Amino acid sequence: MPSTTWADAQGLCTFVDASPSPFHVCATVSMLLTGNGFTELHETDSWPGEPGRYFLVRGGSLIGWSTEGLGRTAPFRIVGGHTDSPNLRVKQHPDLSSAGWQLVGLEPYGGAWLNSWLDRDLGISGRLSVRAGNAVEEKLVRVDEPILRVPQLAIHLSEDRKGVHLDPQRHLNGVWGVGSERRSFIDFVADRAEVPADAVLGWELMTHDLAPSALVGTEQDLVSAPRLDNQGTCYAGTQALLAAAENPGDRVPVLALFDHEEVGSMSDRGAFSDLLSTVLERIVLGRGGGREEFLQTMAGSICASGDMAHATHPNYPERHEPAHHIAVNGGPVLKVNQNLRYATDSAGAGAFALACDQAGVPLQRYVHRADLPCGSTIGPITASRTGLSTVDVGAAQLGMHSSRELMGARDVRAYSDALAAFLTPTA
Ligand code: ZN
Repeated sequence: MPSTTWADAQGLCTFVDASPSPFHVCATVSMLLTGNGFTELHETDSWPGEPGRYFLVRGGSLIGWSTEGLGRTAPFRIVGGHTDSPNLRVKQHPDLSSAGWQLVGLEPYGGAWLNSWLDRDLGISGRLSVRAGNAVEEKLVRVDEPILRVPQLAIHLSEDRKGVHLDPQRHLNGVWGVGSERRSFIDFVADRAEVPADAVLGWELMTHDLAPSALVGTEQDLVSAPRLDNQGTCYAGTQALLAAAENPGDRVPVLALFDHEEVGSMSDRGAFSDLLSTVLERIVLGRGGGREEFLQTMAGSICASGDMAHATHPNYPERHEPAHHIAVNGGPVLKVNQNLRYATDSAGAGAFALACDQAGVPLQRYVHRADLPCGSTIGPITASRTGLSTVDVGAAQLGMHSSRELMGARDVRAYSDALAAFLTPTA
C-alpha cells in the first residue's frame, strides 16, 4: 500500500488491526519500512558503513533511521513511542475449570481499564518460543477467531445493581468452552501456529478485541479502535520517518518504538534499556566515527516522545484543567508537567511548536489538573537515560487504557505531519 494512502485515518485502522501485540507492531512497521527501501540490521552483525535506510528489532521494540545524504556527525532528530498497550495476558498454567466451564487463566498487563474487557469476543496473539533441534526459535502467532470471552456478572446478581468490583485474580478468567474434559490452551495455540505442541517452550500471549477498527460519527471524523495508546504514535511516527527519508534535511531522522512502557519500561528492550543509546552510538561508529564524535552528535540532538493525550471529556469536563481544554481534530498536543511526569521544557516546547508551525497544523497545550495524579510516559526516562533534550507530545483521545479508544480522524494526518516536520527541521 503506498504511503500516501496509509497517511490517513483509514490507514491507522488498517495498521492497528494488523498489530494486536507489540511483536506484531514491530512486524507491521518492519513491513512498511522494508517496502520503502529500509534494510533490517541485526545487533549481532557488524553494520554497513554506507549511508542508507535501516532498522532493527529487539523483541517488541524497533528503531529505524536514515542516514542518506547526511554526514557522520549529523545530529539526531528522534521520535519516540511505545508498542505495548494494556490488555489481559495468559498465565503460565492457563487451564482452569469452574462450575462446568472451561476457562483460560488471564491477568492484567499494565493499567488496563478492566470493565472494558468484559463481554467482548477475544482473539489471541503474541509469540512462542519453539524448540528447533538444539536451538530455540521465536514464532509470531495470532488467532483471530472469537475463542475467549470474559463474561460480566448479571446485574440481578450484583449486590446493589450499581456494578461490581473486579478482582484481577478471580474475575478476569476467559471462558472458552463447557464440560469437564480437560483441554490444553497452549496445545490449541500451538496447533493454530502450526508447531508441535510439545515443542512450545515458552510464550507471551495476550488477548485482543476482534471488532475491527472503524471511522465513526456521521462525518466519519472519529477513529474508534483498540490500542490507539500508543499505536496512534507508532503509525504517525512511521509515516513521519518515511517522509523524512524521502526529504532529508541536515539531521538523522530516527524512530524509536519501545515495548513495556505500560509496566514501567524496565526491561531489555524498554525505554530504561540501553537500546536507543547503543543504536545511536553504533550509527556513528559504524560510519567510521569515534566516541568523541558520538558525544558531540548527541549534544546537538533532540527527542520528541510521542504518546497519546487526554482530550477533554464531554461528560466529565470538571476532570480537566479549565483553561487547557483539548479538542479532538484540534491538532497535536504538547504535554507539560511541572513535576516532570512529562519531560517537556521550554527548549523542547519551542522545537515542537516550530515543527507544528512549519507543518501548518495547530498546536494544543495540555496540563493535568494539579489535584489529580498525572500519568507518565517514556519522555522522562529517555531524557534521563540519554541526556537528550526531550519534549513530550501526542494526539488527543478519549478512553485511554480502555480496550476500545476514540481519537479524531483528522488528527492522524496532522500528528504525522508535525512529527515529520520535527524530524526534518528547515533552516
Ligand atoms: Zn501510552
